[in-house]
Amino acid sequence: MGRYTGPVCRLCRREGQKLFLKGTKCFTDKCPIERRAYAPGQHGPATARRRKASEYANQLREKQKVKRIYGVSEKPFRNLFEKAAHQPGVTGENLLVGLESRLDNIVYRMGFGSSRKEARQLVRHRHVHVNARLVDIPSYQVQPGDEVRIAPKSKDILPVQASLESKTRPSQVGWLAVDDGSRTGRMVERPTRADIPLAVQEQLIVELYSK
Ligand code: SF4
Repeated sequence: MGRYTGPVCRLCRREGQKLFLKGTKCFTDKCPIERRAYAPGQHGPATARRRKASEYANQLREKQKVKRIYGVSEKPFRNLFEKAAHQPGVTGENLLVGLESRLDNIVYRMGFGSSRKEARQLVRHRHVHVNARLVDIPSYQVQPGDEVRIAPKSKDILPVQASLESKTRPSQVGWLAVDDGSRTGRMVERPTRADIPLAVQEQLIVELYSK
């Protein structure tokens, strides 16, 4: 199945919480989830009254939520999970660290894109360099010590400028060092679970894939 191209606010409403998929618009009173806090579709309001969700449904929803937050489709998500399962440590945490280390997420966390979607576009449109070399693969895994920067020719393009000046820019995280002026950042170290400000239960995803 291809990438979802419909209205992203439906995804938040389906998960019943803000996933912040639209950048600065998510922080305004125009956020639809504020006004319609139920699943989209004709039967949306009725879903709130349905019986308690099953264990499987909860696991599935948690997986869908994380995929939607990072904008990753099923196959690469599953691949990342398999990789996480073969690494030492806790699989769920390894999965989140793998998602956080994606180049599009790093560009977003550094504040060069106002949302992960916008950051992915910057990467795809060849505006991003890693260690002084062009990389246009959003899923590229950034390693500790890698330098990520906006290409010199793109330093002052509108989305980057607007994002850096935005009041809703993601707060700086300790595992990334960013220099706004030169549009450059570095991954200082790999994040740990405590560094990832996401209210998700990654263990449910592990349980789902372990069935
Ligand atoms: Fe989600 Fe943002 Fe849309 Fe609100 S405005 S529903 S947080 S994508």
